Amino acid sequence: MKIAACIKRVPTTEAQAKVGADGKSLDAAGFQYMASFYDEIAVEEAIKTKEKLGGDVTVITLGPQDASKELREFIARGADAGAILVDPAWHARDARSTAKALAKKIGALAAELVFVGRVATDRDNAAVGPMLATYLGWACVTEVVSIDITAGKGVAKRETEHGVETLEFALPAVITCNKGLNEPRRPNLKGIMAAKSKPIVEEPAEAVANQAVVEKVELPPARKAGRIVGGARSSPDATARDVARVVRDQKATAFLAAATATGKDLAPRVAADLDVTLLSDCTGFEAQGGGFRVVRPWLAGKAIATLSTQAAVLCATTRPNAFAIAELAGTAEILEVPASDDGKAIVTSVAPKPGGKLDVKEAPVVVSGGRGLKGPEHFKLIEDLAAAFGNAATGASRAVVDAGWRPHAEQVGQTGKTVAPQLYIAVGISGAIQHLAGMRTSKVIVAINKDADAPIFKIADFGIVGDAFEIVPALAKAVQEVKAHK
Ligand SMILES: Cc1cc2nc3c(=O)[nH]c(=O)nc-3n(C[C@H](O)[C@H](O)[C@H](O)COP(=O)(O)OP(=O)(O)OC[C@H]3O[C@@H](n4cnc5c(N)ncnc54)[C@H](O)[C@@H]3O)c2cc1C
Repeated sequence: MKIAACIKRVPTTEAQAKVGADGKSLDAAGFQYMASFYDEIAVEEAIKTKEKLGGDVTVITLGPQDASKELREFIARGADAGAILVDPAWHARDARSTAKALAKKIGALAAELVFVGRVATDRDNAAVGPMLATYLGWACVTEVVSIDITAGKGVAKRETEHGVETLEFALPAVITCNKGLNEPRRPNLKGIMAAKSKPIVEEPAEAVANQAVVEKVELPPARKAGRIVGGARSSPDATARDVARVVRDQKATAFLAAATATGKDLAPRVAADLDVTLLSDCTGFEAQGGGFRVVRPWLAGKAIATLSTQAAVLCATTRPNAFAIAELAGTAEILEVPASDDGKAIVTSVAPKPGGKLDVKEAPVVVSGGRGLKGPEHFKLIEDLAAAFGNAATGASRAVVDAGWRPHAEQVGQTGKTVAPQLYIAVGISGAIQHLAGMRTSKVIVAINKDADAPIFKIADFGIVGDAFEIVPALAKAVQEVKAHK
């Protein structure tokens, strides 16, 4: 079987944002690059599938000529060949033009199965996989945490804000890979030596017109100094087609979805079906002439970009909690449209989150715990504080997720989820740059840490220096009392 894995070269997670001289790009001078975190999982799954079913794996990237370093590394791990779709202006590509160029290459390769990471850690779009599948006319399953492929078909589980969905699909298919799917292997010496003679082709990436235009890039305003105080049958591709049909029929000028796992699964397919650009993770909108101007974070919130589009339909996802719910005086007509039943990937079951737990991306309050809690048994403190609020989700740092104390669905950060709740409480979390990247746009940040020099205090609006084991129960009690008197 011909298998492909698509990877994106991104700045390392330590990269600091600096606006370029043109004011429309980031200054890449100091950037070191790496393959995006989830792409490593995608390549591993491609190699594992080849080992199980036979065939060969080609790793493809759209980027600069010197991306061969990353491709060689994946070949050393077990891929058979590499391809660079060369575009010196790769930074400026939007998801649609990347997906179109990749679709052309994958068509030429006659691949049947394509693995991509669930999201690239620089732009947080999560759009190339579903757009690619839509352009190819293939099945697509996103955010996959387990998969079993046998002759011509597969079953996969995907993680969403509602729980775990199981889908059945037929090949050809695009799979977007989430953490937990596998543990990427490291290359050994034999692989490194063998990789030197394996082919990496370079060819120009197809140019695509009507991209979103970057008008402006700026750094987010610094936060003000803080204070220290004491199951039904459903199919994602059929739903996307139905939505695109309604957008066309209604001659809608905009289609918006939340940038949650569900919205990120749907919006890229709708945009590709309508063949318009997709603007992801927006935090502001404004009509401009015949088109729209949007504002969105880049590089995990370290820079803010303003983009404009003259596309016939504005297709965008909005960052959860970034917009206040408006009181509208008007009324809206509700259309009932029949749902299609001919999807390429079908949801066969949904295991809801236990006890209807809120997802970190959606909850107005997030209480997160880190390694300072010393062990999984002490997360009861975090759960009790979240329960006291009544509308809070529990989150975690990567250190505790990697240690197996908490599920990956709770991980906040650059390689976890990006959250923007009204209130974020970080307990026993040091505030590493990768964690801050996932929660810095929260409205109010409270940090509890026994180390007064912990970096989390630089971003916190309110800090409590002290032992979490004393402070958190007292805080939970105080919240309960305030709630009882409301
Ligand atoms: C490529 C890459 C991607 C990454 N992605 C992410 C990501 O998405 N999300 C993420 O979180 N991290 C990510 N990391 C990891 C990140 O660099 C940190 O290692 C991690 O965030 C640290 O987790 P922590 O704050 O829980 O642990 P630590 O750094 O060990 O901090 C524990 C804190 O607890 C405090 N503490 C200890 N005891 C107590 C107590 N009794 N009461 C109060 N405070 C106490 C300590 O003072 C300390 O500040 C990534 C790293 C890399 C290299």
